[in-house]
Amino acid sequence: MTFECDRCGLCCQHIDIIPQLKAFDSGNGRCIHLLSSNLCDIYPDRPEVCNVEAMYKLYYKGTISEEEYIKKNKQGCIQLKNKYAK
Ligand code: SF4
Ligand code: SF4
Repeated sequence: MTFECDRCGLCCQHIDIIPQLKAFDSGNGRCIHLLSSNLCDIYPDRPEVCNVEAMYKLYYKGTISEEEYIKKNKQGCIQLKNKYAK
């Protein structure tokens, strides 16, 4: 199972709820690194918290299965879409 991102950009437009990304907040929750194309301009060097696979390996492996972890991430995307998608 792999995590599939549709590049809606919503997670990068609401980073004010993520303490690790405080320095990237442009003031309204939008990340300063989010391009108008919804891509990240520092993608290869993005912070750990933005990297689903890295976060699993570093912090969640051994606590929950990868399948469950990806499922939870997808649920997070759905919550953002339900809340903010127009
Ligand atoms: S909210 Fe989910 S689907 Fe949308 S850009 Fe972020 S990771 Fe991708
Ligand atoms: S650093 Fe990149 S992936 Fe992380 S919130 Fe900003 S635009 Fe999104």
